[in-house]
Amino acid sequence: MQVELAIVGAGIAGCSLAYFCKDKDIILLDKASLPASGGSGAAGAFISPKLGKKSALLELTNEAFNFATKFYSSNFPNYFDKSGIIRLPKDIYDAKNFTLYQEISGGRLLDKNALKEFGINDEVGLFFEDGGVCDAQGLCKALIKDIAYKQFEVEKIVKENEFWLLISKNETIKAKKIVLATGYEGFKGLEYMGLHGIWGSRGDFFCENDITICTHKSVSVSIKKDGVIKIGATHLRAKNAKEACTLCDGKPLEALLQKAKEFIFLDNLVLKETFCGMRSGSRDYFPVVGKVIDTKFMLEQYPQIKKGYKKAPLKFKENLYVFNGLGGRGFVFAPLLAQWLKELIFESKAIDERVNPNRLFLKWARKL
Ligand SMILES: Cc1cc2nc3c(=O)[nH]c(=O)nc-3n(C[C@H](O)[C@H](O)[C@H](O)COP(=O)(O)OP(=O)(O)OC[C@H]3O[C@@H](n4cnc5c(N)ncnc54)[C@H](O)[C@@H]3O)c2cc1C
Repeated sequence: MQVELAIVGAGIAGCSLAYFCKDKDIILLDKASLPASGGSGAAGAFISPKLGKKSALLELTNEAFNFATKFYSSNFPNYFDKSGIIRLPKDIYDAKNFTLYQEISGGRLLDKNALKEFGINDEVGLFFEDGGVCDAQGLCKALIKDIAYKQFEVEKIVKENEFWLLISKNETIKAKKIVLATGYEGFKGLEYMGLHGIWGSRGDFFCENDITICTHKSVSVSIKKDGVIKIGATHLRAKNAKEACTLCDGKPLEALLQKAKEFIFLDNLVLKETFCGMRSGSRDYFPVVGKVIDTKFMLEQYPQIKKGYKKAPLKFKENLYVFNGLGGRGFVFAPLLAQWLKELIFESKAIDERVNPNRLFLKWARKL
């Protein structure tokens, strides 16, 4: 088999990119038989802006939030409940900043009485009417509806003339271009990006209360749909990518539930299903999207890089790209970043510097 572009990883990153590249000759590969079998399937998939003081990450996140809410509601309304989302303060100190947060990120301030009408017990909240929650698996499937999908575990990639060979146990696929969207499992050659995993869990509960709005404090609680609410959060940094999540034996879920009950009235919940997954983040919390540096070449040609030399021209692995490090907001970031990556791959448009993995290379090399 031979294609123009092979996307490895069918989480929200790979599926969004496949959607934007659907008019090209592409194939989407995943070691699982269905999309959203990794971190994306475990996610609560809340679409919520970032709150805090002004920062570059906040600006980028909220740009992606605005893009995602429009993208999902116009193209995938059946998989995005635009119910609105209420953000609550972490503690009494955070509550004092909510007027400032509103100036920066918008939203409508709600006082104690207004919150009570939603069954929420807190002093102040910020309501974002465009926010909401996605059906993670349904959305990923819908994004790749007409796209070639193959269950294929990539064990190795090798460059042979103008093609990349994607090698699994029994088969090889040839692709001119590859995008690695493999989440926390990263890939050999991406070490300089410092990708690491954070475990998270989610419980879906049958619920008797009417919950018509999503809420986020230290955990997220979704609206009720088909009698079920989702409660989720990410909580534990993994020591290494292969480590099993030893905490996810029901106890974290109890803790999540306890935290949720501190701010929202929940009655007679019955556990329907639990999910456990790992999301991947980068060293500086920004996503990593773009070309991959040939680190072996760079270190051999310019060993002085390790001592802080900054002027060596970067050499990239030809036609190899990465789409990763989406952190706790994969569903917020994926549509905008997928569009940017498609423009880089097929229109040679420069990637936005805030997500360009180049920023991580020199620091990594100096620490070697
Ligand atoms: C409990 C929890 C709650 C979360 N809540 C939210 C939320 O409310 N809102 C939000 O926006 N985000 C949330 N996130 C974060 C979000 O899930 C991630 O940012 C997102 O899933 C990352 O998507 P991805 O496509 O990069 O990775 P993944 O979804 O992990 O996809 C990577 C895919 O690559 C495949 N793969 C890996 N290696 C190979 C290989 N060698 N060959 C073939 N296939 C391979 C895997 O099988 C997997 O399907 C949450 C995460 C968790 C765990």
